[in-house]
Amino acid sequence: MADAPLTSLEEALKQLLDRVPEPDTSETVDLMTTLGRVLARDYRVPADVPPADNSAVDGYAVRSADLAAGKALPISNRIPAGAAPSALEPGTAARIFTGSEIPSGADSVVMQENTELQDGQLVVTAEVTEGQNIRRRGQDLLRGDLALAAGTRIRPQEMGLLASIGLAQVEVTPKIRVAVFSTGDELVEPGQSLGPGQIYNTNRFMLAGLLTEAGCELVKSDTLKDKRETTRQALEDAARHADLIITTGGVSVGEEDHVRAVMEDKGSLALWRLAIKPGKPLAFGHIDGTLMLGLPGNPASVLVTFLMVGMPVIRRLEGQQKLRYTGDRIAAGFRVGRPSVRREFLRVRRGQNGAEPVLEAYPNQNSGVLSATCWADGLAVVPENSTVEEGDTVTYFSFEELLR
Ligand code: AMP
Ligand code: MG
Repeated sequence: MADAPLTSLEEALKQLLDRVPEPDTSETVDLMTTLGRVLARDYRVPADVPPADNSAVDGYAVRSADLAAGKALPISNRIPAGAAPSALEPGTAARIFTGSEIPSGADSVVMQENTELQDGQLVVTAEVTEGQNIRRRGQDLLRGDLALAAGTRIRPQEMGLLASIGLAQVEVTPKIRVAVFSTGDELVEPGQSLGPGQIYNTNRFMLAGLLTEAGCELVKSDTLKDKRETTRQALEDAARHADLIITTGGVSVGEEDHVRAVMEDKGSLALWRLAIKPGKPLAFGHIDGTLMLGLPGNPASVLVTFLMVGMPVIRRLEGQQKLRYTGDRIAAGFRVGRPSVRREFLRVRRGQNGAEPVLEAYPNQNSGVLSATCWADGLAVVPENSTVEEGDTVTYFSFEELLR
């Protein structure tokens, strides 16, 4: 392993995503509960949105030709929102409100600010162009159009759009059931006192948070001793209940690294030395047909490998269209003088240099320093074999973007 060649993130992702199945089932849920879910099918527009021409302002619906002579118009009708209007009598105006349907015969709406009432008749004080202040039927969505495509992750605005085409129930892909195992004889749960050689189990909690934000269902979250038999039993059992098993620790070459051995015995295994920093060792394969991802032990490495590798796997499993993110290009407010053969993900946060955004890097980027990830709001990418000078533009991924 120590001498195994480094694998680029792209190469690992390509191999890995090729082996992740897309969802083949779906469930129908209430629109109100769809936030963060992924559409299982295309949705087309059943009827034009909006369904009729309607007024963009409070004012008066008119036939623009009637105003040409500049004469006053009697007001023949009042059309509140929600009413079905009768046709506009020629040579008259109708009082109308924002969202009210335009009566047939009217071709324009005059804003009330541009009108005066003289002896109960409407006098228009500004020029009127035909079609003004009318929101056209179907201006948002036309019947038969694709409203949203299969694989779309539903944000609040997609919930609104689905409501606007009248859907109460929506077909989405299943939530991904994930089992998490932290491995290591040294691990102790928070709330207990530490003995010699022990540390608190950090990854178990961080992964629970990450998976919750990713919209997954956490079906198990256990801590395993470094023993072959317990590791084997736990993984076999989880394989029956989960779509994805994530382990931390136990995938390097130490004698107590049993996750790797069990995967080799019970399923399949690809073990990579990823060319990223932090986060070198990464195992991928399956146990009894259930996908499994073996992340490193180091918490900062867990965060980075989960975001960079685990999230694309989860997105593919839930059928999301969009598997990668482009990030933003922002000026570096730091310097990296020594190139590395591994792509480095620096814990950074956005700051301001005058009017310009700039990335500040946490001073200690050691992979054992988890506090850097709490200080940070995202990751900056230092490409392989590159240095960075202050002011150079680098790629930045916000943590929020990576978890979508
Ligand atoms: P390993 O890959 O098992 O050799 O672990 C690498 C490093 O990460 C070691 O220093 C472990 O103590 C540490 N580590 C592993 N798992 C956890 C965990 N769940 N919480 C905190 N640190 C961990
Ligand atoms: Mg270990």
